[in-house]
Amino acid sequence: LTDDSHAATERSGSTAEIYEYIDREKDRMVSELQEFVRKPSISSEKEEIENFSAYLAQRLEDTGLEVQLVSTKNANPTVFARLEEGNERCLMVYAHYDVQPPDPVYEWTMEPFGGELKEGRIYGRGTVDAKGGLFSWLKAVEAYRKVVNKLPIDLLFLFEGEEEIGSPNMGPILKENSDAFRRKNNGRIEGIVASDGREDPKGAPIVNLGLKGMLFVDMSLQGPEKVVHSMYAPVVDNPMWYLIQALSTMKTIEGTILLEGFYDNIRDPEADEKSLVSAMSPDEDGMLESLGAREFREGVRGTELLMKLVFDPTCNINGVTGGYCGKGAKTIIPSRATASIDFRLVPDQDPDYVFEKLRSHLVKKGFGKIGLQKRSSIQAIKTSSKERVARALIQSTKEAYGMNPHVYPMLGGSNGGLATLHKLLNLPIVGSGPGYIHLCHAPDEYIGIEQYLRGIKLAVSTVSVLSRIV
Ligand SMILES: [Zn+2]
Repeated sequence: LTDDSHAATERSGSTAEIYEYIDREKDRMVSELQEFVRKPSISSEKEEIENFSAYLAQRLEDTGLEVQLVSTKNANPTVFARLEEGNERCLMVYAHYDVQPPDPVYEWTMEPFGGELKEGRIYGRGTVDAKGGLFSWLKAVEAYRKVVNKLPIDLLFLFEGEEEIGSPNMGPILKENSDAFRRKNNGRIEGIVASDGREDPKGAPIVNLGLKGMLFVDMSLQGPEKVVHSMYAPVVDNPMWYLIQALSTMKTIEGTILLEGFYDNIRDPEADEKSLVSAMSPDEDGMLESLGAREFREGVRGTELLMKLVFDPTCNINGVTGGYCGKGAKTIIPSRATASIDFRLVPDQDPDYVFEKLRSHLVKKGFGKIGLQKRSSIQAIKTSSKERVARALIQSTKEAYGMNPHVYPMLGGSNGGLATLHKLLNLPIVGSGPGYIHLCHAPDEYIGIEQYLRGIKLAVSTVSVLSRIV
């Protein structure tokens, strides 16, 4: 992966001292994260968001940063903070402070916003996604300033408040406030580190160099104005049948996506990207267990499994609703049918192009009556492993964890905010951060204390490595 196998032992004196400070202060740092998690910040809850963004701004100021809340009409504010001390190099850190709703709450055995500590874990919505990683950076800055006073690079922090609802306002916020997101001296920014790499189920760190794109669409069809007795099925169209038949024309059982032109613009992965993937060996059983699945599609395993996860685009059904499946007998023709589908896209598939291909496919197959609503459209992003910020993050992850990270050219997920950031700021983006990736959006989300402390050390190490790497 990298040619610096000796790097882990070459930790600079100051980094070791900062690590010691973190170990000394860990109890306080843990209780501060608990407090951070206890303050809810569900994207759609305006009052929570207002309170939380103000609280976050205060915490950043307490850490010595200059803070600015940047927003646009009706948007949750982006919290932007800077620590500029005249260094040549500068890194931007991205995270989001909003969280998913904890629903369904009955699946939680812990309080979703309790921040409870149990058996070495801090439980709560947002501990992994993404407050743990975000807060790690605050604590890293604190530790750095306490031990060596001045950081060796400048830092910019961009904390978004609408990631969990698809970052609808990231574009307008960046465009309307383009002066805000620069260095004061207009100098170069090395790139963006996002704390959404995280760890695999065995605790091995992941560095991700890209994210898939996404097209998220609602399909709907109105049938008869009201529910009709099924005795009329010979003469009245059933919208559920129509929708299900339309869905079945979109993909083969083997997995080939049948929209004409869907595969048109896909850029083949680079040789070094393929070798990054083939260097990893997946823990299939661990993955299956954490997914609660019995087997992988088509029985894929090993390198093929990872290649598919990383490089394959998808067409997925999130849900189909309509009609009646409740208690008792009800024989009806439903009046309405809806489906929610998403496509995960790879470079250089354009989500809007795929949307048009979906529309023309349905028309061509005789399903033109189905209404389509585009809910989000996100471009895939990918950073070269040769970028300095990528090399720095790979090396610092190795230092902080004492093991080689899994380096993914792309993760299967998508992040509209990051895609927009990448497009509008034109900066490479890489990700690595603490916490198990499979706990995102899950009930009983938690971050282990050790994971969190390592996250702080990872941030410290990232600053240190980026200041000296060639
Ligand atoms: Zn999330």
